Amino acid sequence: MQNIVENLSAVHAQIAQACANCQRPEAEVHLLCVSKTKPVEMIKAAYDAGERHFGESYALEAVDKITALKAEGYNDIVWHFIGPIQSNKTKYIAAHFDIVESVERAKILERLSAQRPDEAGVLQVLIQVNISHEEQKQGCEEEELPELLALASSLPKIEVVGLMGVARIDAPEEELRASFGRLQYLLSRYQGQYPQLKTLSMGMTHDMQPAIASGSTEVRIGTAIFGEREYHH
Ligand SMILES: *Cc1c(COP(=O)(O)O)cnc(C)c1O
Repeated sequence: MQNIVENLSAVHAQIAQACANCQRPEAEVHLLCVSKTKPVEMIKAAYDAGERHFGESYALEAVDKITALKAEGYNDIVWHFIGPIQSNKTKYIAAHFDIVESVERAKILERLSAQRPDEAGVLQVLIQVNISHEEQKQGCEEEELPELLALASSLPKIEVVGLMGVARIDAPEEELRASFGRLQYLLSRYQGQYPQLKTLSMGMTHDMQPAIASGSTEVRIGTAIFGEREYHH
């Protein structure tokens, strides 16, 4: 697991450099380690290197890993759900996660609130906004944001704390800046009405620099830490 430790220092150095380039304090940008498809041993290696925020995209895989790690005493990990959410998976997500970043419709918000166990406290959510304008889009449209923010704020077990976006893969620099800039604008636009909106989750392995330049407060990094993912479907 030596390379995970090295990869993490390289990622932190990249974040520091990106912050320096745009005169932002490094402490404003926090690292979410995206461990989807990766084994718990790799999560432990990152944990031992000091990381506490981990992101997962597949509910059932994540529940297995979270349960296994809790049984071994890893109780202070903050688990973020960042994948597409099917209605039949909300009960697992509501029970096992601390933050859900990929909320894009009302029904999912209502189910997460209804299914959040009392002892788990409030579930933090980010609304995912479609900033890539692809056919295979994820995230709500900008016009749907006011309604989703209002609903999220009214639900007892939900606290809405920010916005999340994924830029188009392989987009040129100019398009990345436009997409991330749009999400930054949307956060600032709704912060007056919803002051608890603080998190701007944007930037992945290949686009963390422009995301940080556009005000990202959380970069979601998988490949640069844990290596390429293999899928067996
Ligand atoms: C997988 C994933 C990431 C991490 O992507 P990398 O390119 O491996 O850094 C970030 N955000 C979301 C929403 C993801 O699904």
